Amino acid sequence: MTLHRKYAQDEVDVCIVGAGAAGGVLAKELSEAGMKVVVLEAGPMLDPQHDFASDELTMRKLGWQDTRIVDGLDPLTMGHNNSGRSVGGGTVHFTGVFLRFHADDFRTFSTDGVGEDWPITYEELAPYYDKIEKEVAVSGPKHFPWGEYHGPYPYPEREPLSPNAYLFRKGCEKLGIRSTVAPLAILSAPFEGRPPCINRGFCNQGCMPNSKFSTLIVHIPKAVAAGAEVLPDCMATQVLMAPDGKVSGVAFTHDGQSHVQKARVVILSAYAVETPRLLLNSANARFPDGLANSSGWVGRAIMPHSSYDVMAKFDKEIRIYKGTPVLATTQEFYASNPKERGFARGYSLHAHGARPLETVKGIIGDERGTVWGKQLREAMLDYNYYGRITMVGEVLPHPDNRVTLAEEKDEYGLPRAKVTFSYGENDRKLIKEAVENMSAILEAEEGKVAFVHPDTAHLMGGCRMGDQPDRSVVNAYGQSHDIPNLYVCDASIFVTSSGSNPTHTVMALAARTAAHIIDKAKRQEL
Ligand SMILES: Cc1cc2nc3c(=O)[nH]c(=O)nc-3n(C[C@H](O)[C@H](O)[C@H](O)COP(=O)(O)OP(=O)(O)OC[C@H]3O[C@@H](n4cnc5c(N)ncnc54)[C@H](O)[C@@H]3O)c2cc1C
Ligand code: SF4
Repeated sequence: MTLHRKYAQDEVDVCIVGAGAAGGVLAKELSEAGMKVVVLEAGPMLDPQHDFASDELTMRKLGWQDTRIVDGLDPLTMGHNNSGRSVGGGTVHFTGVFLRFHADDFRTFSTDGVGEDWPITYEELAPYYDKIEKEVAVSGPKHFPWGEYHGPYPYPEREPLSPNAYLFRKGCEKLGIRSTVAPLAILSAPFEGRPPCINRGFCNQGCMPNSKFSTLIVHIPKAVAAGAEVLPDCMATQVLMAPDGKVSGVAFTHDGQSHVQKARVVILSAYAVETPRLLLNSANARFPDGLANSSGWVGRAIMPHSSYDVMAKFDKEIRIYKGTPVLATTQEFYASNPKERGFARGYSLHAHGARPLETVKGIIGDERGTVWGKQLREAMLDYNYYGRITMVGEVLPHPDNRVTLAEEKDEYGLPRAKVTFSYGENDRKLIKEAVENMSAILEAEEGKVAFVHPDTAHLMGGCRMGDQPDRSVVNAYGQSHDIPNLYVCDASIFVTSSGSNPTHTVMALAARTAAHIIDKAKRQEL
């Protein structure tokens, strides 16, 4: 199919690779500032009302399904569980939990002697958190008890809660654990022509009514209205370099045909696996180990969140399919206290509903071994009687947890990503405590713990930011230490993972990078 392009022959101001959480914010901000912007997105442009279905199997297509080789002591599950592949990226099928990081998440080394400090502080990011919260119309409690930001959120908290969220809150209360309604990128009242949530609970299948924020329905339309060109089904295959040592554009493939987009600035926003992979696959004579990789840190220190689920059986019906999956949360175990707890850092606990297939996946993967046959059938017949809690646990960065290139090639002739991951001792101790606390909350409401599912979520790192060019890939604005007109802006620039879901921070960082680029452009320094 012919690709219609506005700027086929032109050098644009900015070419962004990836139309996900970060790419969308960048596209909107930069095009609204008057810059010529092209966004290349590997996946399709979907229409929520026509292309989404209330069906778990069908909507697995929202995930990045290309084969990735996994390795390490704790190999990660790739696919629907961690990244998106369509305009909107992971936000199309994310759960919508929208949390800020805490101030000490940005300085774990100074606080606890673990991980690494970020080159920016919470205070520097706070105005961008404010901006994104307003753009998304985050719904949340009047008072959020933990961290630096205590609300009120732009929109009121969601109600009614799901039965699973109520039982979580009651269990917490009995144990003296403070809990709250979760801050969500999901509307509690109409906003910009979108309706409030109707609580059917298909958020991970893509929200048909448009009540859940996604980049597809919020930032991309605004970017296009401001003149940005968004090219779906266009897989970037190489970042190109000019003889002067600067990048000159991006090579990409559409429908089997190769194309080039020339640009004065290139920003990679292709997420924690594909951004390092693209940099490594763009190696040239000047940068034989991959672009922006003179430090050797491209691909290193990737971090998932530990995301174990605990399921307990109750005598009464709970119906965990009901409502937005996460409606209640606690960060009572977030603050680091290594002396008393025997490990550094912390975690959030979310009351986390699940639809039948996701539940089966959890039951099958019980930590004591595979559950199948009669036992699986009986458990699923009792599906309505289970309650579930999920942790979002901080995983410390380790350089050996990394993305490298495999021998095997994909359909574009590019080496596939190989993703290696093993938990460290601190991570395992943190998980053990979280599983005990999740079990205690469910038991306080008279549930009997039946399944514990080891799982991970949310990839971060792989191109971390830092002030030292020999220990990081980009500076505090996402600008490559090696190549001044190459930026990285997505979850891969994270230095540590925190115990909070990451997308609010991804988007706040993108808004900050956009402001920096606009400022440079005004001063004619681009
Ligand atoms: C099931 C699920 C639930 C989640 N729930 C939450 C939650 O409740 N709260 C939260 O904070 N976070 C959640 N997340 C995480 C969230 O989706 C990510 O943090 C966020 O999307 C990361 O943003 P990003 O911009 O780094 O990448 P993405 O949003 O993944 O965007 C990257 C884009 O780049 C495209 N791309 C990749 N390679 C190329 C290439 N070579 N050429 C062109 N395009 C390319 C991809 O197709 C994709 O669209 C969830 C994720 C999943 C999968
Ligand atoms: S529960 Fe609400 S946010 Fe989730 S898919 Fe349904 S309408 Fe959208």
